[in-house]
Amino acid sequence: MIPLPHGGRLINRESPPSERQRRESESRDLLKLSPFIDAIYDAEKIGIGAYSPLDGFQGKEAVDAVVERGRLPDGLPWTIPILLAPTGKENLGVVDSVRAGDEVGLTDQSGRLFAIVRVEEKFRYDRHRLAEQVYGTTDPQHPNVADLQAQGEVALAGPLVLLRRLELPTGTLEKTPAEVREEFARRGWSNVAAYQTRNVPHTAHEYLQRCTLEREEIDGLFVHPILGRLKRGDYRPAVIAEAYQALIQNYYPAHRVLLAALSITMRYGGPKAALFLAIIRKNFGCSHYIVGRDQAGIGKYYDPFACQRIFDEYPIDVVPVRYEETFFCRDCGWMATARTCAHPVSSRLDTSQTRIRTAIAKGESLPKELLRPEVYRVLARGDVLITE
Ligand SMILES: [Zn+2]
Repeated sequence: MIPLPHGGRLINRESPPSERQRRESESRDLLKLSPFIDAIYDAEKIGIGAYSPLDGFQGKEAVDAVVERGRLPDGLPWTIPILLAPTGKENLGVVDSVRAGDEVGLTDQSGRLFAIVRVEEKFRYDRHRLAEQVYGTTDPQHPNVADLQAQGEVALAGPLVLLRRLELPTGTLEKTPAEVREEFARRGWSNVAAYQTRNVPHTAHEYLQRCTLEREEIDGLFVHPILGRLKRGDYRPAVIAEAYQALIQNYYPAHRVLLAALSITMRYGGPKAALFLAIIRKNFGCSHYIVGRDQAGIGKYYDPFACQRIFDEYPIDVVPVRYEETFFCRDCGWMATARTCAHPVSSRLDTSQTRIRTAIAKGESLPKELLRPEVYRVLARGDVLITE
């Protein structure tokens, strides 16, 4: 059986077409906010149930519980606060005038109304404390801490209605949890392992995916790259999607792997982000979650294996499939980990993204032990990294 969503019930806040038309025709008098892209993505994900059991932006009690305990007020694990705290002159004017009980429309990046929040609460929250507790640092060099410091100081909370899904460059690769669950059921999958990524696949990633597919209890692999707002130096969303399509189409049995995109802003929060990302995949129907070394980490902020241990501290009914650091060993002539290879570290091929990026930038070829040629071709066409 495909596991239940987090909290037991899949949230669906998408309005039926009739309601959408009515809402849009009445929207002229509605107060409107144009939030930062992070909150636009979050609003859509709440609407489609990816953040179940959340049915709206979180209020003070929930935010405090998440920040202090990594849980919702009812005790259910939840590690990343989902806040609507817009900034900018016009938005702040709206935030100032809005009262509990009002409805506020949210517009997307092209200025189109896409969601409506029924405001239940307006509150101040402690950005410093949030950064410290959730990201483990208040260093403004940390991308999410920097984002947090740029957010408004006052947040609006309340349930939302999603009038339309976002128009995203990843198009049909974006799926709702309900659609993915239906596809798992159609394929007869019960035990599905999710693979979180924000990178193009090299052989070390492929090795983890293959090891997982070899496990007897696993029916299928759900490759679910985050393709929303990444940071400078990350691969462009379309590049990640195409690179995975190249790997899957050329190497994996089609009936055992499913690819979909998840457009949200990446939280580089180490363990707490890893747990959050696993909860999302539980909502998409996954029973297992692959967690390698330093998942959702950045720089040296996190112990590389804290992202694995957090699954013991906060049980979420998802089986973590933990792996050690993987590499290609020249002496073994194979992919390996410290569990399977006797050779010194110097025998390992450098599989870092830095190595790959440098080679691509210089137009150098890469050995197939590091990168599949079909994936290399996607990267070699140039302009593959986010530069702004
Ligand atoms: Zn070896």
